This record gives sequence, C-alpha cells and structure tokens, in this order.
Amino acid sequence: MEKIILIKYGELSTKKANINFFLKTLKDNVERSLKTEDVTVNYDKGRMFVSLNKDNFDLVVEKLKKVFGIHEIVIGYKIEDTDLNAIKSHLLTLAQEKEFKTFKVETKRSDKTYHLNSMEISRTLGAHLLKNIEGLKVDVHNPELNINVELRKNACIIYFERYEGIGGYPVGTLGKGLLMLSGGIDSPVAGYLAIKRGVKLEGIYFESPPHTSVAAKNKVMDLASKLAVYNNDFKLHVINFTEIQEAIFKNIPHEYLITIMRRMMYRISAIIAKNNRGHILVNGESIGQVASQTLTSMEVINSVVNIPVIRPVACFDKTEIIKLAKEIDTYETSILPFEDCCTIFVPEHPVINPEKIKCEEYEKLIPWEELIYKAIKNHEVIKVSDKKEQYNELL
Ligand code: ATP
Ligand code: MG
Repeated sequence: MEKIILIKYGELSTKKANINFFLKTLKDNVERSLKTEDVTVNYDKGRMFVSLNKDNFDLVVEKLKKVFGIHEIVIGYKIEDTDLNAIKSHLLTLAQEKEFKTFKVETKRSDKTYHLNSMEISRTLGAHLLKNIEGLKVDVHNPELNINVELRKNACIIYFERYEGIGGYPVGTLGKGLLMLSGGIDSPVAGYLAIKRGVKLEGIYFESPPHTSVAAKNKVMDLASKLAVYNNDFKLHVINFTEIQEAIFKNIPHEYLITIMRRMMYRISAIIAKNNRGHILVNGESIGQVASQTLTSMEVINSVVNIPVIRPVACFDKTEIIKLAKEIDTYETSILPFEDCCTIFVPEHPVINPEKIKCEEYEKLIPWEELIYKAIKNHEVIKVSDKKEQYNELL
C-alpha cells in the first residue's frame, strides 16, 4: 500500500476535444511547481497521481493549492490489487490507526466490469469494519470519518482527507496575454484572475525615472514575483515612459494628460503584446473608479488599439478587489507608498468625458510615433522568478 496524492480536475474534465493538451499542460505545471520536492507525476483522463519519495505531504499539498486547474487534492492509499479481501484488510489496518466512532463508506467505481456495484462495495467494507472494530456506528449524514474508496481497473485507492484546489484552467492552455502591471492594488488582482482562466501572462510596466523611483520598480517586480507563483514564471517588459510623459505634460492641455497618456500606454502595450505572441491585454481598470475609467474614457482610450482588452475587475467594488488582493498576498506590497508614473502627473481636473477628436488634435502636438518607437526599441526585459532575492541583483 503506497501513500500518494491524488488530484481531481473538476471543470477540466468537460473540455473533451482537447483534454489531452489540458492534462499534459497541467502535468507540466504540477511538475514545475513541485520541482524541488522529489516526486513522480502520472495521469489518466480522470485523475492525476503524485508519488512522493519523501514524507513531505503537507508541503506538496500547499504547493498544489496554488496550481490552477486543480479542483481537489486528496491524500490517499493506493492498493495495487482490486480483490475485495485485500481491500478489506488494508482498510481495516488504516481504520485501526484512526480515532472515530461514526463513519460512512462511499465508493466510486471507474471499473464498471467489477463484480459488485458501488453500493455493494461500500456495504461490504462497512460491515467488515463494524465486525472488527468495537463500538463503531454508521452515520451517513454526519460521520466523524468519511471513508472514500475509488475502485479502478488495476488498483484501489482509499482516502480520508481532501483539500479544495483553486480551480480554473492550467496556465498556458488558453494562450498568452500581456498584463499592464502597475504598483497599485487592482492590476495584480486582475492578473491573478486572468491566469486563473489559463492565460499565461507577461507583464508591462511603465516607469518614468527620475520622477519614479527604483523603489517603485522594485515594488512592481515584487508583485510580479507573487504572480509568478501562479504563472510558473513572469517576464516583465519595462518601458521608459519619461520622454513621452514629459512631452505630453509640456504640450497638451492638462485636463487631457491622463487620457492621452493612457492612449500611449495602450498603443505601446498592444505592440509589445503582438511582438510576443500575446492575444489580449489585461489591466486593472474598474468601471467608475477614476476619471480615466468612466465608460466614455474607456471608449476613447480603448479606440487606439484593436487587440481585445480584458478587465477582470471591471465590475468589482474596491472592497472586493482588496479582499482578493489580501487572499493572494499582494495587498501589503501594493499599499507601499511609492509614486508611480500616473500619480506624479495627475492633473487637478482630469476630463471625465473626453472627446476622441480632441485627443487626435492634441496628439498632433507631439511626435508620439517616434517616441513610441524609441521607447519600445530601448525597453528592458526582466525575468522575474517566484523568489524575490533573485531579481534584487538585477537592479
Ligand atoms: P489602484 O489600485 O491605485 O487603482 P491601479 O494600478 O489600478 O492602482 P489606475 O490608475 O487605476 O491604477 O490604473 C488603471 C490600470 O492601468 C491599472 O490597473 C494598470 O493595469 C494600468 N496601469 C496604470 N499605471 C500603469 C503603469 N505605470 N504601468 C503599467 N500599467 C499601468
Ligand atoms: Mg485602479
């Protein structure tokens, strides 16, 4: 009898047409997340099995809880025998090690040719426990111990403990996107939600040195490293936005500063996404949160690109975003007080309902195509891992 970890896919199992691709990707992601844990991973269409060479079950479960595409994780005991007597005796051994008075046996039978059905197996195993352990009772509604038995073609798995996985799709199965990642609260949460849907992300960060500090950039990399845990790794494109931002600041009426600035950000992001085989942009905009996130602002800003822009937190309240930011451990970093390039150039009265035609007129006042070309040509790419220490050296 081998103690193993069993992974259930949940929503994944409905993806019939490309299930093999989904499962192969999930296996790769599981292996990557457990690369330091000395494990072997196997799978079939119904389940994934992780065999451990060390007694590091708790650590492995903790890591699996952060892998998208996993619905449930259980620690189980695998018996390489489907003979009912063998199962009875193994179950008795396991049950004798536990403290409980009431129990319930639930059986799933993926081998439909087995000579007993699920109910009959549960009943037989339950009766065996009642006969051999004194003082036990069956309680189907509220048992102290749930005994789960999965009967497969060549093996039987018994388990008691189950842990909820985080669901979603395996990262990479839905292609690639580019996250506009600032140091704020919203964009890391937006990134997390996109990764959850199977989108592998790269990030883009606009910095404006010397108006923005190295500390602000460090903070963004810290956030990127937190997303890297879910995204397997994280490639961050850093764009020097100073020249563009100064040109806008000097030449364009200040109420349109933010609108034009964001149109430039979108244009650059769309090009970087295309150059890196990204299909979508992802950002942390939320309807009505600030002047640049009214519906008319979004329309005027969004109109400069053709690539789809996904806004996972568009309809969330700030309190809902904060709750999620705390859950994924980005909140404390996001609230560190470093200026980002938007907060420095914020006008007193930003336009709430910008006009597209005015944007186009104002943009003629600066050589934006040239400036964008230059910013993209000189941009820096940083590979951020999920270990913060490794990128500190890069600064
Ligand atoms: P906050 O949590 O304070 O709202 P934010 O990052 O959401 O922070 P916003 O001004 O609301 O800031 O910006 C809207 C979105 O635009 C961000 O969620 C992010 O996706 C993108 N963005 C803003 N500034 C930058 C930047 N410097 N680099 C990359 N993306 C940015
Ligand atoms: Mg915001």
